[in-house]
Amino acid sequence: MQIAIIGAGISGLACARQLCALGHQVTLFEKGGEAGGRVHTWQTEIGGFDLGAQFFTAISDNFKKAVSSWRKDGLVMPWHGRLVSLRDGIVAPARSSSQRFVAAPGMAELARHLARGLDIRTGQTVVRIEAGLLPGNWRLALKADGKKTLTEPFDAVVVATPGDQAAGLLAPVPALAGKAELTGHVSCWALMLGFEQPLNLEFDGAWVKHHRLAWVARDDSKPERGDGERWIVLARVEWSAEHLKDGPARVRDKLLKAFQEATGTSVQPVYSVARLWNYAQSTRPLAKSCLWDEKQRIGACGDWFSAGLEGGGQIEHAYLSGMMLAARIDEAAKPILVKPVRAAANTTDRAPAVKPAIGRRRTGAASSR
Ligand SMILES: Cc1cc2nc3c(=O)[nH]c(=O)nc-3n(C[C@H](O)[C@H](O)[C@H](O)COP(=O)(O)OP(=O)(O)OC[C@H]3O[C@@H](n4cnc5c(N)ncnc54)[C@H](O)[C@@H]3O)c2cc1C
Repeated sequence: MQIAIIGAGISGLACARQLCALGHQVTLFEKGGEAGGRVHTWQTEIGGFDLGAQFFTAISDNFKKAVSSWRKDGLVMPWHGRLVSLRDGIVAPARSSSQRFVAAPGMAELARHLARGLDIRTGQTVVRIEAGLLPGNWRLALKADGKKTLTEPFDAVVVATPGDQAAGLLAPVPALAGKAELTGHVSCWALMLGFEQPLNLEFDGAWVKHHRLAWVARDDSKPERGDGERWIVLARVEWSAEHLKDGPARVRDKLLKAFQEATGTSVQPVYSVARLWNYAQSTRPLAKSCLWDEKQRIGACGDWFSAGLEGGGQIEHAYLSGMMLAARIDEAAKPILVKPVRAAANTTDRAPAVKPAIGRRRTGAASSR
């Protein structure tokens, strides 16, 4: 099948890799300048910052297998940072969790690794999925560099964007769009801080109880990050929601003050930049692995699915959801058994006829668009 995937974050990349491995032709359309989405390392003259996902854990057997192969490739390593919870200047050990992993030399390396060898068209915003000229196929309406274009036709389309963004794109299948709409989202302000002098804090990452802050982490405590003390500060989603309209400079000042209050440091940074994640996390992940309409051949995957685990909103959910959708699509594309017709007495012992599902255009599907 010729398959278009909208969004080259972890879910879109995992789905694409699996579909290619199963023999399909896949093209990804990504509105950003590179693959990765919320797995992003912000590069600066003083080193990189993991601006989105901070680390990941592996719970399911399938994801553990993937992590183990990434570890063999030297791409992923355990992060042995000293993690604590921090409240009113009091430091307490963090609750133990399964092992935490990071990609090296930055989280973006994971996306780069998954993107290798794939046909990814960056800088292309998909504005709409349109019925193609032939029944049963789809074209994407794109916007790139201010120009509008239509893609070649595809047999199937995967929407691998955050749920709220997926809802609009899934309009040709209202039942799927309705489900995507339910997921909602929250935004999150992130601040990057670089220091010339050491802060000498007794931890490398902390879940913070502070009205402005949720998490702080020392980026250079992760493996292969290079020299120079660099911290990432994530604001509480409630605080971020109240300050959506503030500019980055104002937010930077407020979050820097909060960082100094929470950690008790007064050292001034030589680098401080704030950025907003508009679609940071869905508020109500769906207790499903993905969405797939076999008749229309449109589906959706992402971290807004629980994908067999609890909750959602993490790299593991995104990866598993992408893989599971690829399996559903491949299943739909497989030749299906058609029961033999007892047209004549001497045909009863014939082998069942096999018809490929793909290439068979469904008139019902075409007329409903
Ligand atoms: C601040 C922050 C901290 C986090 N920390 C952690 C953590 O510590 N551990 C963890 O496991 N997870 C963490 N996460 C969550 C993790 O990053 C996500 O679960 C995962 O990256 C989601 O992948 P995805 O493919 O589902 O979506 P995304 O990464 O959002 O990918 C979607 C892609 O679709 C593209 N796109 C959207 N609309 C269009 C369009 N119309 N046309 C073309 N392209 C489009 C976007 O540009 C994006 O690249 C964090 C996220 C944030 C924001």
